[in-house]
Amino acid sequence: MKSRLLTTVLILLLVWCAPAAANAQRNTKQRTVAITFDDLPVNSLQHDLASQELITRKLLRAITANRVPAIGFVNESKLLTAGRSDEKRVALLQMWLDAGLELGNHTFSHPDLHTTALNVFTDDVVRGEEVTRRLLEAKGRNLRYFRHPFLHTGNSLETKQKFEEFLIGRGYRIAPVTIDNSEWIFARAYENAMQRGDKQLAKRIGRTYISYMEEKFAYFEQQSLALFGYEMKQTLLLHANALNADYFHALAQMMKKRGYDFITLEEALKDKAYSSRDTYAGPAGITWIHRWAITAGKDEAFFKGEPRTPDFVLKEAGIKAE
Ligand SMILES: [Zn+2]
Repeated sequence: MKSRLLTTVLILLLVWCAPAAANAQRNTKQRTVAITFDDLPVNSLQHDLASQELITRKLLRAITANRVPAIGFVNESKLLTAGRSDEKRVALLQMWLDAGLELGNHTFSHPDLHTTALNVFTDDVVRGEEVTRRLLEAKGRNLRYFRHPFLHTGNSLETKQKFEEFLIGRGYRIAPVTIDNSEWIFARAYENAMQRGDKQLAKRIGRTYISYMEEKFAYFEQQSLALFGYEMKQTLLLHANALNADYFHALAQMMKKRGYDFITLEEALKDKAYSSRDTYAGPAGITWIHRWAITAGKDEAFFKGEPRTPDFVLKEAGIKAE
């Protein structure tokens, strides 16, 4: 009787401890991240429709297989063929919506707010709404998010604030980025290696991409902790490119191993950290965590330790420095 009781107690203990043990195995706490993709429909050296369809298909397969409620930010200038909206390219955006994902505006032609007059820039934002809004509304949804090209938010406080007022007036919410990274450099290197037929180098770039991104996650988890005292709901910036078509699945596995659940941008923005004061108006396109840190008066030491892109990747991308 006594041993039966002991066995029961032991079993109960085991059952009770199992989730904790599983968590310990993952070696993580509960973390959340919203995944955002810029430069839709596709950012690639391959402009032909067949290549862009293939990249989109592969990327969406990896996104949906991992149940990631992602958002894609569109440059509608990429939908043009010979100056006219090409329905076959519009169909690439439709694939995102049909996969249950959201779309946002990333301007029509990807201008740089730091070198473009504000009125020219806002015209480009408006021009970039047309197709995306139509597709969203056909699904009973609204166009509600804007992502700045190059993460350039204005190099004077006046421009920044005027532009933000314009966005609010048109019903947009800014889509910030907290986990900023140089994935676009890896993507360029990857495509260059593939085009030269150097599959071995492409594989090395792909593998290094995942470990580099894991270092970035570790860095920004710490940055959030240092600034806010907790790990915020993060927002990751990626691009719709061939690298992610081939490696997003591995990237999602890495995030899951770190304990991440994938959430919508809407859910992420509920974190109070996103309401922090941001008066940064410098030239750099940087993470919002650093904008908030600069605004809060953090000194240089705070920003130390950010992972760098390895030299062999920079070289293959044809980029001198980050
Ligand atoms: Zn972009």
